[in-house]
Amino acid sequence: MNQTSPPTVILGGGFVGLFTALHLSQQNYPHPIILIEGRDRFTFKPLLYELITDELHAEQVCPRYTDLLADSNVSFVQDTVKAIDLHQHCVILESGKDYNYGNLVIALGSQTSYFNIPGAAENTLPLPLQMMRSRSKFACKIVYKLPCKPEIPKNASIFLL
Ligand SMILES: Cc1cc2nc3c(=O)[nH]c(=O)nc-3n(C[C@H](O)[C@H](O)[C@H](O)COP(=O)(O)OP(=O)(O)OC[C@H]3O[C@@H](n4cnc5c(N)ncnc54)[C@H](O)[C@@H]3O)c2cc1C
Repeated sequence: MNQTSPPTVILGGGFVGLFTALHLSQQNYPHPIILIEGRDRFTFKPLLYELITDELHAEQVCPRYTDLLADSNVSFVQDTVKAIDLHQHCVILESGKDYNYGNLVIALGSQTSYFNIPGAAENTLPLPLQMMRSRSKFACKIVYKLPCKPEIPKNASIFLL
């Protein structure tokens, strides 16, 4: 690996960002690899159902990035991306730090959209963030185990959170 070459900076440690970083590392990619992610744990989203139903525990579904990257040459930075200066090839983080890059991978995921559907924002729980909160997990568990669809009160989101 050429430590003097500008790094490849990967923004976001979801499936796209994490697996890009691991793949590059396994392919003996010649540039330094930096993964920038806001959280300290990866969320294996397809396994969230097993988390709710207690078939798996949180450590299995949400392992730490430091553990997942331990055998790689990926440098993990836990911080929030605030801005990208495409002209200067620079990423600015909430902490005030900045990183210059040679190549940039933007893998920051998506935001939940409600498409102006009345009541959707107030009466639904976006996945997986809400499932990570223990009380929501409990609430989801109750709904999941009910034999019929419950009537959701108007203030359901306030009640569940
Ligand atoms: C319950 C559930 C089950 C699913 N099951 C399947 C399945 O079986 N098969 C399948 O193909 N897909 C499945 N999906 C969809 C799949 O998980 C998503 O398509 C995939 O996670 C998208 O990956 P991503 O890397 O693009 O985004 P994300 O996983 O959203 O990752 C984006 C990352 O960027 C980070 N981030 C965002 N903004 C910032 C910022 N400003 N600074 C720093 N970090 C930031 C986030 O913290 C996050 O870690 C499922 C999704 C859910 C919710």
